[in-house]
Amino acid sequence: MLRFEDLALDFDLARCKSCGAMYLWEDRASLSGSGNNDETTLRPLGCEQTIVRELLRAADEPAAPARVIDAAFAQVEWSLLRALLQRMAIRDRPAIAAMLDALIDKLYSNPPRNDTDILTSYVGWSHERAQHVLERICSIERATTHAVDRVLAHCRQTLARARA
Ligand SMILES: [Zn+2]
Repeated sequence: MLRFEDLALDFDLARCKSCGAMYLWEDRASLSGSGNNDETTLRPLGCEQTIVRELLRAADEPAAPARVIDAAFAQVEWSLLRALLQRMAIRDRPAIAAMLDALIDKLYSNPPRNDTDILTSYVGWSHERAQHVLERICSIERATTHAVDRVLAHCRQTLARARA
């Protein structure tokens, strides 16, 4: 029996309820637009499932968040990693908070490896989180990138709205 994570309509992470093995479920019909609902695939995750498991546990064990993020960005395919982080940004904010500096760091790589949506979702419209992310970014003495600027803009907009 598989348990699905409900990440996206066209792909998902599935876990075997008895042994914990992970599979990537994909609906190719939605990608190709053919509308044929039979075109789904279930592909076992390889060695990257170790790091996916660590990422899913990150809320309980926020040890070495930078290592977990670095390994996840290096090993896990972006569509899956992005969906997992995006969901954590909304439903599991303490986990993202623990990994915040490591995620912000990814905004500075060129090309940026972090979709700004993850951090803007994390901030939401929270005055406190916007202030915190703004302070973390402002403490970094590096030239900002387009991705960093977009996160900063969202934080400033949130703070302006909170004051209004
Ligand atoms: Zn199994």
